[in-house]
Amino acid sequence: MKTLYVCQLCGYEYNPRLGDVDNDIEPGTDFEDISSDWTCPLCGAGKDDFECVVSDEDDDDDYE
Ligand SMILES: [Zn+2]
Repeated sequence: MKTLYVCQLCGYEYNPRLGDVDNDIEPGTDFEDISSDWTCPLCGAGKDDFECVVSDEDDDDDYE
């Protein structure tokens, strides 16, 4: 099971396991813990425009 946060404007998916390293968000950072001035890397939408999506799909890539 995995949790993603999807931008409602462009469809960008924030995966807490991957973070957003291009914007200094380290892998493993919960969405709630991201700075409130973080914005969508693709379209610039604020955190308020993201929706939490829980998937049954296993996130089986290695944690390295
Ligand atoms: Zn976006």
